[in-house]
Amino acid sequence: MSLVVRDITKAWGGFRALDGVSFEMESSGLLGIIGPNGAGKSTLFSVVSGFIAADAGSVALDGTPLDRLGPAARARAGMIRTFQVPREFHHLTVRENLMAAAPGQSGEGLLGLFLRPGRVRAEEDAIRAEADATIDFLRLARVADTPAGRLSGGQKKLVELGRALMAKPRLILLDEPFAGVNPVLIEEIMARIRDLNGRGIGFLVIEHDLDALSRLVPRLVVMDRGRVLATGTPQAVLADAAVREAYLGG
Ligand code: ADP
Ligand code: MG
Repeated sequence: MSLVVRDITKAWGGFRALDGVSFEMESSGLLGIIGPNGAGKSTLFSVVSGFIAADAGSVALDGTPLDRLGPAARARAGMIRTFQVPREFHHLTVRENLMAAAPGQSGEGLLGLFLRPGRVRAEEDAIRAEADATIDFLRLARVADTPAGRLSGGQKKLVELGRALMAKPRLILLDEPFAGVNPVLIEEIMARIRDLNGRGIGFLVIEHDLDALSRLVPRLVVMDRGRVLATGTPQAVLADAAVREAYLGG
C-alpha cells in the first residue's frame, strides 16, 4: 500500500515550478520533504492533493489512480492535506471548526433538514462527539470554545491537523506544521504525529525546519528548483554533495 508520484511537471507561465518529480512512500509511513523556499514543495502538495492539475505525471494511492479526482474525492479516497497558512474559520470556535470539517453531512442541504430532521440531529451529535474526541487527543480541550482566530500559531496548526483528522484519512499531507510554532508546541505536535502514525496513519511532511523534520521522519526527499535532488535517510541526504550545495550553501 503506497502513494506513488510519477514524473509530475507543472509550469506557471514559462516557469517550471515542478520538473519531473517522482517519489514513493508507504501510505502508512512517514516521509519528509525539505528544500529551500520556492523549491516547489507546496505546489507539489497542491498537485498530489488535487487542488491544482499537473501538466504531466500521475498520482496513485494504494493502487488507485487519483489524477481525475478533485480534493474532496481524494479526501474520500483516504488522503487529505493541510495548508502552510492555516485556513481555520477565525470566528468559529475550535469545536465548530472541526465539526465543519466533517465530510458528508446530510444536514448541509435544507431539504435534508425538512425530510429527516431526526437523522440530521443524530448525525450532528455524532460529529460533535468525534470533534470532542479529536480535541481531547490534540490537548485542545481548554480552547474548544475559543474562536480559532484567537489561538497561537502552534494551536492553529493543531486545529488544522484536527480538521484533517475529521475526514478519517489514511494519509495526511502536512505543509510546514512547525513554521511559526514555539519549541514546546513543536514537540507536542511531533508527539501527536508519532502517536497517529503508530495507529497506522501515514504522514507526508513538508518542513523548513530540517532539525525538527530529521527527528520525526526516517526518510527525506530533498527538493530544489522543482526537482528531486536526493532521497534517503536524513543522515544520507545531509551528506549528499548536491544537497549541501543547494540547501546548506555548500
Ligand atoms: P515552496 O513551497 O517550496 O516554497 P512553492 O511551491 O510555493 O515553493 O513555489 C514554487 C515556485 O512556484 C515559486 O517560484 C513560486 O513563486 C511559484 N508559484 C507558486 N504558486 C504559484 C502560482 N499560483 N502562480 C504562479 N507562480 C506560483
Ligand atoms: Mg511552501
